[in-house]
Amino acid sequence: MRLTRIELEALNARLEARSPVEILTWAWATFGRRAAILSSMQKAGAALCHMADRAGLGLDVVFVDTGVLHAETLATRDALARTHRHLAVVTLHPARTFAAQTRDEGVLYLTGEGQARCCELRKSEPLRSVAGRYDALISALRRDEGGGRAKIRALELDPEMNALRVHPLVGLSSQGLDAYVASHADVALNPLHSMGFPTIGCFPCTTPVRADEGERAGRWRHLADVAYCGINPTDRAATAEPAIELDDRYRAVLVGA
Ligand code: SF4
Repeated sequence: MRLTRIELEALNARLEARSPVEILTWAWATFGRRAAILSSMQKAGAALCHMADRAGLGLDVVFVDTGVLHAETLATRDALARTHRHLAVVTLHPARTFAAQTRDEGVLYLTGEGQARCCELRKSEPLRSVAGRYDALISALRRDEGGGRAKIRALELDPEMNALRVHPLVGLSSQGLDAYVASHADVALNPLHSMGFPTIGCFPCTTPVRADEGERAGRWRHLADVAYCGINPTDRAATAEPAIELDDRYRAVLVGA
């Protein structure tokens, strides 16, 4: 079954009227263990994992360890694995260590071109190693983040992974997210958030932000035109109308019989 965004329109309209937990539960009911959460251990992803675990969903949580993450981020991953018993954390790694990459190609992340290659090698390529294992990747993107994410839908397409991208938090505001985290003490919250980091990535490319800066000002601060790493297809400029091929057994639920 070939799927385009247009064919998902009716389902998107229905899903976007539902709560985050209802969208998560729909993904689990539709795809079962062929769905996984994709998390980089930031606040929204932590809330998403907490919701899934509370709902008893046996989802994998795919985490890409680039080899240059803060110790706090790795500790958050370990805490999540320990405390969210319904979920199974799957850690992916790049082919080379950061030291080997630097030996072979130099310090890539200091230039725009090098950053694109480094993020490709250390984030996108490891994720592609599990292409075919999942039909749906669930992530914590929200429209309220603004910028390129202001128009995302509950369901988007990922041609590289040949999977649906599912965004249960699509309609959740920043205030709503903060309220969820504040009211659930057992969310596995990355401690870097309370040290001035609204968003968190690799340590060479992430700084805290000042109070008068935007939330993403600390990402690739040294590069003028870089906002996202590209691991989420909706963050990349589309070159063509995306399409994916899924098994026919999903036809009835995704596009009607
Ligand atoms: S965020 Fe920086 S260090 Fe991490 S993969 Fe991208 S360029 Fe490399």
